[in-house]
Amino acid sequence: MTESPLLFVNAAQVVTCAGPARARVGKEMADAVAQAGVAVLVNGSTISAVTDEAELRAAWPDATVVDCAQGLLTPGFVDSHTHAIFGRGRFEEQEMRAAGISYLEIARRGGGIHASVRDLRSSADDHLYALARERLRALAAAGVTTVEVKSGYGLSLEDELRTLHIIRRLSETLPMRIVPTFLGAHEIPLEYRDRESGRREYVELLVQEMIPAVAQSQLARFADVFCEPGVFTVAESREILTAARQAGLGIKLHADELAAGGGAELAAELRATSADHLAAVTDEGIRALSSAGTVATLLPGTMLFLGKTKQAPARALIDAGCAVALATDFNPGTSPTTDFPLILTLGVSQLHLTAGEAILAGTVNGAAALGLAARVGQIAPGFSADLCLWNLSDVRELPYWYGGQRCAASWTRGKPCHVHDLALSSLR
Ligand SMILES: [Zn+2]
Repeated sequence: MTESPLLFVNAAQVVTCAGPARARVGKEMADAVAQAGVAVLVNGSTISAVTDEAELRAAWPDATVVDCAQGLLTPGFVDSHTHAIFGRGRFEEQEMRAAGISYLEIARRGGGIHASVRDLRSSADDHLYALARERLRALAAAGVTTVEVKSGYGLSLEDELRTLHIIRRLSETLPMRIVPTFLGAHEIPLEYRDRESGRREYVELLVQEMIPAVAQSQLARFADVFCEPGVFTVAESREILTAARQAGLGIKLHADELAAGGGAELAAELRATSADHLAAVTDEGIRALSSAGTVATLLPGTMLFLGKTKQAPARALIDAGCAVALATDFNPGTSPTTDFPLILTLGVSQLHLTAGEAILAGTVNGAAALGLAARVGQIAPGFSADLCLWNLSDVRELPYWYGGQRCAASWTRGKPCHVHDLALSSLR
């Protein structure tokens, strides 16, 4: 027996984001396409029609009706950059930072990424799994139906594989679509820092042992490197990512976050799927990303949380013909938020995007940053039935309400992902 189709009706607006099944660049990002009077038909895991409501009701009298109760229906959001597998938060660092203590000094006092590495290495799998599960559920409650999750607090072959296994377990037990990324090149671990040759030894460990083992395990779709002055150099990043690509992994980079170091240019040279952060990207870097077709993933929550006044030049990136995506960068040190709509708010207020651009940056272009734009991010026939129903009625309200949860329900592949306000939908 086949399941009866789902028919989503009575939405104030359906924000389709419909258009080419690829990253949207430049002016293509202007219109998220909000339509009234249309319904959405879902067959199994796929959207099969988006058209006039009366017509669909007449054609599909036996469909299970989902009453959107004059809410706003959007594609489920795609959070394409998170570090969601960690143990404890690092709240003690916030006061230090506010008092003007530098990142280096915080690290010297035992804080920073190394604190999360120490913590993860001493935490049991079940504990890390339980924490991550609640955190990903919080992301789902904020309207996210697809999430990228990076490793990178293990920094040893064993602890990185352990992290990737936890991500696999989450993807098997949560309804969200989870895309795993190997970030063994997040930092040089402390045990390699105590001698001159340590850096070189860790890069060789990454290239010769960790990347082949990760590729063989099939636990990651992408490899990522923190390419930044003081972390991994451009030459080291090139070596690591070239090995990753040869092993069959997709490529992403943390690039030009705090200082311009050639990260964006390297991302373009390697035709990376995305270059992320980019608060310090140069004009040359912008041009390179545009001609390479690498998605520029911007993380305004991080700069806000760190108290930085400088944000990525989103308008210049769009004007140069780049595809801009927005993501939370959810992590314990520099962006402890799961509030995806807040990132849209910051996209408008800090990055000067329009509401439509911010929404496309969180849907179609987020999907493109994960290589999923052919199937994810649009309410259009043939796309995965990843939908989000909001207790809002106008598309401009999504980035307008500042914090707080207004996601009533969401679906991934046509199945419930998150249900908050059952009264709003007819799923009760
Ligand atoms: Zn990051």
